Amino acid sequence: MATTAENVPQTKPRPGQITLSIDGQEVTCERGDTILEAAQRLGIHIPTLCYEPRLPATAACRMCIVEVEGARKVVPSCSSAASDGMVVRTNTDKVRAMRHLYLELLLSDHNSFCTPPCRDACPTHIKIPQFLDYIAHKDYKNGVRKLREDLPFPAILGRVCPRPCEGPCRRQLVEHPITICQLHRFMADQTIDEEQTGELLLPVEPKADTGRRIAVVGGGPAGLACAFYARLEGHSVKIFEALPKPGGMLRYGIPSYRLPRDLLDKEINVLWRMGVEIQVDSRLGVDYQLEDLLGEYDAVFLGLGAFSSNDMRIPGEDADGVVTAVDFLGELERTGEVHVGKKVTVIGGGFTAMDACRTSVRKGAAEVTCLYRRSRKEMPAHHTEVDEAEEEGVKLELLCAPLRVLTDAANKVTGIEMQRMELGEPDASGRRRPVPLEGSEFVIECDQVIAAIGQYPKLDGTSEEQGVKRTKWRTIEVDDWTFQTEDPRVFAGGDAVLGAQTVIQAVAQGKKAAWSIDAFLRGADMREVGQSLVELKAMPFFNALTAKTDIDPRVARMAEIPPVFIDMTTDVTHPSPPAEMPKLSPDERKANFKQIELGFSEEEAVRGAELCLDCYCPANGKCDLQRYSIEYEVFKNRFHGGDAHDYPADFRHDFIMREPNRCINCGRCVRVCRMEVGSSCYDNMGRGFDSIVSTADNLPLQLVGCVSCGKCAETCPTGSIETNPRLLASYDLDESRCIFCGECVEVCPYDALEQTDYFELAGYNRTTMARESLYVREPRPVDPLRETVPDLVPHVRDTVLGTGWVWDPIGDDPIDLGDPEEAG
Ligand code: FAD
Repeated sequence: MATTAENVPQTKPRPGQITLSIDGQEVTCERGDTILEAAQRLGIHIPTLCYEPRLPATAACRMCIVEVEGARKVVPSCSSAASDGMVVRTNTDKVRAMRHLYLELLLSDHNSFCTPPCRDACPTHIKIPQFLDYIAHKDYKNGVRKLREDLPFPAILGRVCPRPCEGPCRRQLVEHPITICQLHRFMADQTIDEEQTGELLLPVEPKADTGRRIAVVGGGPAGLACAFYARLEGHSVKIFEALPKPGGMLRYGIPSYRLPRDLLDKEINVLWRMGVEIQVDSRLGVDYQLEDLLGEYDAVFLGLGAFSSNDMRIPGEDADGVVTAVDFLGELERTGEVHVGKKVTVIGGGFTAMDACRTSVRKGAAEVTCLYRRSRKEMPAHHTEVDEAEEEGVKLELLCAPLRVLTDAANKVTGIEMQRMELGEPDASGRRRPVPLEGSEFVIECDQVIAAIGQYPKLDGTSEEQGVKRTKWRTIEVDDWTFQTEDPRVFAGGDAVLGAQTVIQAVAQGKKAAWSIDAFLRGADMREVGQSLVELKAMPFFNALTAKTDIDPRVARMAEIPPVFIDMTTDVTHPSPPAEMPKLSPDERKANFKQIELGFSEEEAVRGAELCLDCYCPANGKCDLQRYSIEYEVFKNRFHGGDAHDYPADFRHDFIMREPNRCINCGRCVRVCRMEVGSSCYDNMGRGFDSIVSTADNLPLQLVGCVSCGKCAETCPTGSIETNPRLLASYDLDESRCIFCGECVEVCPYDALEQTDYFELAGYNRTTMARESLYVREPRPVDPLRETVPDLVPHVRDTVLGTGWVWDPIGDDPIDLGDPEEAG
């Protein structure tokens, strides 16, 4: 039983005992106990990174320092004996400041990160370092499987995603961010053709049929993602799509020069092959009603998108020649043709505006001008799209807003009157608000105006009376965590809930809605599900990780636990910029709809993936260094000099994996291996700043007497030594050769073998053993495969286990719905 303040009887000290005061509490302990041990009796936690209860203290990390009344200096509590009458303070300002300093020093050469910011920034939290690792090993099939744990469409998103992951990529601390998006495009392109008829690359085997049926209305990315993940849970899923083909805005918005249609069809075909039914030309509210679906299905997901365009709210917008970008692009896709003027103006600065501009160029417009009310920096379209549009001849007219459309007597567009803007104070989105400049009006002549100033959902076939409530932004109101509408059987996600946003956000919502529907169909109390997810998000990081393990993993996977980023060292000894995506030149592309981005070669992709700094750590959430860094708020480190060590990781041993960049030289492994196990595999090597715990001559562990006990990994406080998952069959003992020396019993570090009174192996005696070896042996019962725990090198682990990475944080992007105009 652990000794705590409650269960230690505070009686008078026996002879040989002493009494001291720690943080104002009296404690009686044995003479010879350390201050740390005395504090532990009281349940007072003193931080330490190098203390190992089974071994003599070394005070190497200095984290356990305390103040002792009358002492000139602080003392390390792990190696200072408690004495009678001593007055100890464990948590004074001075002590905390010194611990802060020690942590900064430790982190200054801790060249490794806890959590990848790229994954955090991705709305669907793709396991980025892990899939890059697969690319680096040219294992594309397993890479796609890994990616599909969170994103079913790597080829599509690899072409159209605005790449929120690349913004915070830590590689740019030294040079350029990793080309994450284009790399998963590469990986998917290697496998997609084979997958059309061959093996499906699913993250897990679909579960056995549950007998439950789900109707998904809308075949855009939200609906498709919902169908994918619901099918994996074993539910039967049917998608109802109003238009002639599935894909939503992927097909009827995004032009084919960015997203070739054969690729779109191929990724959707994976759903077909999984058994998802898709019924097209089938519109909710026209061909069937919500009640019909609810009569036939156990749950309904509404992924209706945002198909209605915002009005410009200016005179003349009903003139002949004014069209919305969504209608313009949709018509081209549906009919293969669309009317394009000679002089086209496009209003807006988002994806839709850029697509309308560039499609106009391709359809033969002589002059295309994009009019946007803020500056280039604030344009919501990805900067590469704006650059490419300009290369194709699109003119940008920035900091201006439309006042009215000018027409002739037949109400045909002749021009547009604009007003200059200047940027004022930042608005809720953080961008500076455009303010009109009086007297700055000007006219641009044109014969077509394409409005791309945002969309909102067209919620045909649903009503508040049916429990599908609307928000003030004309989107569907759902519970933030369960995606349930007021009717508990009806769920919604994607643009219909978020307003016009992005594909990756729609996918993230579709995925979580599928998991939520699954919980609902399993009979979970949805109020409790939502409540536990809210609580997890509000908890401090470590508490949330612990609490997460106590709830149903199928609910826990929906949790968004905000990570804590600690500013550690990044030192990259071999900077090397990633390859640039090869593209068609402006002349080669501007008169056709050929795919512009040509894709990486294998060599470029593998090298690009190898540039990943692997800023994830398997010890994330259980690392003491991380715990104390958070507790002591070491978020900015003044000792980063950029000359930290960059040691190679050592995966040469089958079971023990070493990442010296995470080592803090606490020496616990050295001592445990020497004193507990008797193997002496490790020692402190090198001198001064260059000293590091390693094996002699940095030999592989298996050559320095390692018995694979794993005790070094068990004691490591930082994740520098980890055990690699392995599958163990039962060990076979060749009884005909055993001489019963008992050596194995002696050396087993876990006391897994025992001797009986007769000094023979437990469960055996000579007579039975002799009999067994003389006669035909009974086959031994086969032990189920034993799995060891953690998670380090994904390609190794997954090849063996075929299962997924478990750590699952983080927060959805806050979405500003206050400014619908900017979404276009
Ligand atoms: P949608 O993709 O809109 O799909 C909704 C589906 O529901 C449609 O198929 C629709 O036909 C169907 N539907 C609607 N009503 C009914 C009904 N009553 N009955 C049956 N079916 C119905 N995002 C990016 O990330 N990157 C880009 O490069 C990008 N470019 C874009 C370019 C354009 C021109 C546009 C318009 C948008 C772009 N977006 C881009 C935004 C992105 O396409 C959307 O955010 C995303 O498609 C939303 O997915 P969704 O599934 O919620 O809705």
